[in-house]
Amino acid sequence: MVFKEYDKHRSVFYFDRPSLNLKVFIAIHRNKTIFPSFGATRMMMYANEDEALNDALRLSRLMSYKSALAGLNYGGAKGVILFDGNHPDKSEVLKIYSDMVNELKGKFITGADVGLSQEDVQLMTRNSPYFVGTKNKPEKCTALGIVKGIEVCLKQVFGKGFISDHTFAIQGLGKVGLDLLGLIYNQAGKIYVSDISSEKIEVAKNLYPNIVPVPVEDIFKLEIDVFCPCALAHAISPKMIAELKCKIVAGGANNQLFNQEVGDALFSKGILYAPDYVINSGGLISVADEYENRFKNENHIEKKLEHIKSVLETIFEQSQTQNLATNRVADRLAEDIFNNH
Ligand code: NAD
Repeated sequence: MVFKEYDKHRSVFYFDRPSLNLKVFIAIHRNKTIFPSFGATRMMMYANEDEALNDALRLSRLMSYKSALAGLNYGGAKGVILFDGNHPDKSEVLKIYSDMVNELKGKFITGADVGLSQEDVQLMTRNSPYFVGTKNKPEKCTALGIVKGIEVCLKQVFGKGFISDHTFAIQGLGKVGLDLLGLIYNQAGKIYVSDISSEKIEVAKNLYPNIVPVPVEDIFKLEIDVFCPCALAHAISPKMIAELKCKIVAGGANNQLFNQEVGDALFSKGILYAPDYVINSGGLISVADEYENRFKNENHIEKKLEHIKSVLETIFEQSQTQNLATNRVADRLAEDIFNNH
């Protein structure tokens, strides 16, 4: 196996159940003895095991950065279930996956990412105490945090932090993208959307008739104020930079930039990039709160999400004074936290 994304990870677990054609990677990037590592689980088709392993490595690393800047003591982790679409019974797969999580005895706390629903997590909590995200809707908190982050971005670029009348493009209408759409719909100007699933577009169009669906290959080229990547990784690659016409990139997807240099190019082009793991940390903030048994109500979480605003303000300020891309500033701040505390 090729450990391309390896970054001195603490542990990487590999589980194989040939009778079910089920393979799982759980990567733990950082943790402290008394604190577990957090990271949701994704279930999807991968071209091969290397691709799945490197996704787990890359995402678990990002979770360490996310946790540090969210002001949490937890390390970063990620679970990846290789799904080939041939499992006869998803609930059997989920039961076995929750057994695997139990084997780690609480070092790894997880919930739903791409390909898993809240109902799936509910099912697994029956067999394991190490699943979170059932008392609240983490994706809703993720979307709420993104809106707060977008307001900071708008203030930075336009002088006023209001959604009203600004134009948006949302890439991906899954759990996070659809919730984000719902939160901005009544205030925003034109909202363009794209999804590889025509079903997702239809659902969104029924709920929010004024949205404008565009082909997936065009969503990032539009002349809009805010581009919100809410699908999978690498929403922005080097060759896309020349075609971007937005003023701000701020969305829910993890690992939005193809590499760090893409962040430099956005900075040089004058496009404000809200580092993904900062602006999308609302879900983590809410599940950590749930894990600590503090979850009271949505108002309580909403207050906690204000933290995202102050971190973004610090990043934007340092980016200007240091003449450094926002992704680099965020990484420095996070590394400073988990290397020195
Ligand atoms: P999801 O699986 O519910 O939604 C993803 C959506 O993206 C799907 O509708 C899918 O059809 C669509 N999609 C895939 N490829 C696309 C493409 N090329 N163009 C347009 N649409 C495409 O997943 P989610 O939970 O909404 O997560 C979305 C992203 O946000 C992921 O990167 C995830 O890691 C990240 N994220 C999620 C949460 C959360 O609370 N769920 C928290 C933080 C970060």
